[in-house]
Amino acid sequence: MNLTLEETEQVIALLGEPKYRAKQVFKWVHQKGAATFDEMTDLPLVMREKMRAISSTGQLETAARQQASDGTIKYLFTLDDGNAVESVYLPRGYGKSVCVSSQVGCRMGCRFCASAIGGLVRDLTAGEMYGQVMGIQADTGEKVGSIVIMGSGEPLQNLPQVLKFISLVTSPDGLNIGARHITVSTCGVVPGIKRLAREKLQITLSVSLHAPNDEIRDRIMPINKKYPVRMLIEACGEYTSATKRRVTFEYALIDGLNDSRESALELGRLLKGMVCHVNLIPLNPVRERDFRRSQPDRVKTFRDTLDRMGIAVTVRKEMGADIDAACGQLRRRAAVDQSVPGRR
Ligand code: SF4
Repeated sequence: MNLTLEETEQVIALLGEPKYRAKQVFKWVHQKGAATFDEMTDLPLVMREKMRAISSTGQLETAARQQASDGTIKYLFTLDDGNAVESVYLPRGYGKSVCVSSQVGCRMGCRFCASAIGGLVRDLTAGEMYGQVMGIQADTGEKVGSIVIMGSGEPLQNLPQVLKFISLVTSPDGLNIGARHITVSTCGVVPGIKRLAREKLQITLSVSLHAPNDEIRDRIMPINKKYPVRMLIEACGEYTSATKRRVTFEYALIDGLNDSRESALELGRLLKGMVCHVNLIPLNPVRERDFRRSQPDRVKTFRDTLDRMGIAVTVRKEMGADIDAACGQLRRRAAVDQSVPGRR
């Protein structure tokens, strides 16, 4: 259901029902995961019928599901219009984590990404993002503790719906997830970062940097032509000043492209003095692309170089290695197999 509690109250008022019913409906959908209005047994039958006639609970249908040996599960959910999006369940650390998509496909064209192949189809609504979380909770029986908006799509190009989604998942009458357990990932849309900074949310901003300079970044991320590295780093500094939150820089190590010791030194100099953390990622190979992941000794040298320069750095633990783990791969595979009807 694509409605905040306030919007649900407005709908309930239009139906001529008392205001307190809105909270009941909201809790059924957002806390108890009701898939149909018929499950809302403490609502009068006539009201359930009225709700059914004008709305849906927003539950998404699972079109495909792949489980890795480490417990990671990748889902392909079908939307009402026949499009499909991917989401990932990561059973790790301080709480079960879910990675959601914010768009069907993506227009940003990052060269190493399967979601970019085929371009953008459309933005998702807040309800469709929420539906991914609820679908995973229903399937796993686990309460989700943290959310990363890092699936297909560029969230800062769909910011109004992303902000609405964040308000839904943080609502005390909904999933009640703390803002600090939500991460928004961007490929570097500078105006979006500035706009998000003005919201002063306590979420984590994660920036896909992947290069220490414009020369390398231009080759793998078209967005860099519009918002070059210096401009991006400046916007991240503004974000930290406004929110007092540390920015995470994602850096996928690609064999022979951005993984040399010189690149590590350049990155260290670029980020010197920033309140930030660097997350090094062994690249997930994408069948349609010919980038290869860095060798373990190069990953170690890169990490150690940054560490010696005083930059907070970790190497992301690989999860879901034995499934189509890179973003966009399951959707593309399903499209090729034509096992999900109605999509391109
Ligand atoms: S990495 Fe993210 S922003 Fe870049 S094309 Fe893929 S989904 Fe879009």
